Amino acid sequence: MPSIYLDHSATTPVGEEILQAMLPFLSDRFGNASSIHQYGQEARAAVEHAREQVARVINARESEIIFVSGGTEADNLAILGSAAALKEKGNHIITSLIEHQAVIQTCEHLEKQGYEVTYLEPDQHGMTHPGQVEEAIRPETILITVMHSNNEIGTINPVGEIGKIVHEKNIRFHTDAVQSFGKLPIDVNVINVDLLSISAHKIYGPKGVGALYVHQGTAMAKVIHGGEHERNKRGGTENVAGIVALGKAAEISLNLMASEAQRLMLLQDKFWQEIRERIPDVSLNGHPDERIPGHLSVSFPGVEAESLLISLDLKGIAASSGSACASGSNAPSHVLAGLKLPLEKMKGTIRFSLGRTNTEDHIEYTAQVLQETIERLRALAPTA
Ligand SMILES: *Cc1c(COP(=O)(O)O)cnc(C)c1O
Repeated sequence: MPSIYLDHSATTPVGEEILQAMLPFLSDRFGNASSIHQYGQEARAAVEHAREQVARVINARESEIIFVSGGTEADNLAILGSAAALKEKGNHIITSLIEHQAVIQTCEHLEKQGYEVTYLEPDQHGMTHPGQVEEAIRPETILITVMHSNNEIGTINPVGEIGKIVHEKNIRFHTDAVQSFGKLPIDVNVINVDLLSISAHKIYGPKGVGALYVHQGTAMAKVIHGGEHERNKRGGTENVAGIVALGKAAEISLNLMASEAQRLMLLQDKFWQEIRERIPDVSLNGHPDERIPGHLSVSFPGVEAESLLISLDLKGIAASSGSACASGSNAPSHVLAGLKLPLEKMKGTIRFSLGRTNTEDHIEYTAQVLQETIERLRALAPTA
């Protein structure tokens, strides 16, 4: 049976070169990057090299990259660190209804602390528009956090235009770029963001390491206390091996960005064409053009996503319903609900996220399995 991984937005396999780059730091080169001796210096040099590699991808300065434990911590640090640093200025935050839970739940936490949060409703493609952000701004607005691209539906937001407005109003702007970093060109100076979240395991690095870009001069309160690490913005002994891996993953992503984007877009187009030709009554969620290369969120009304995923898994195909973080709970995804998708469509929505491991053969096989499986499942569900 083939083994076809179509869930790269949940996580990616660790790249061989990336694994090789990190391994020495789990054995011989075990030093603590804060130590004075040569072991420490070796670790420090490796961490600083990785900082340079990450910074280059988004045209940032090395000093603007703070290493953290992943995308979730980056989002928490950006939002909690800003809210605490700016609490004298105001208590209002603007975000969207379909952010990652790391943003939504952090905002909800702040609401309990007396902050006010506006959750903008995206359009039918899942896009948040600069005009909406502008209208929601109040004198007491201290932070705007809108994701660069959406993990469930793949829509890319007009972050540059939002940044322009936010910048003119002198308000702080954070974007969760976990799904975009290394896949789409980003220049932090052009899009006017102050804070940008990054995670290693979405770009063929290991889990448990990420980074937050913090624009020079951006005042931040600490969230993790316990040392002067990371320019006194995040306590804790650096995860040297993980950071080295993130650096390598960033470098490789930058090198492959243009060619992979083009290859994945072609694969995605072909896949969607195959699905449409073979299966009646299907629809694509998210924006038709402004989407992450290789990302397809498809609704198959009359089918339960869970049953479809299990059937696909039995045929060696790994996909997901909504985001990996939401699976296990039966509640409809807050992203699909935010799009106001009819219940029938919401229940039958599957995300395919293609990546470096995929080929045209995978697409052919999956389209064929989908056709057979959907036909069978729809026949079992007479209400469809
Ligand atoms: C995966 C993901 C995160 C969380 O990153 P972790 O490193 O898994 O904590 C945050 N935001 C988005 C958009 C993601 O896709």
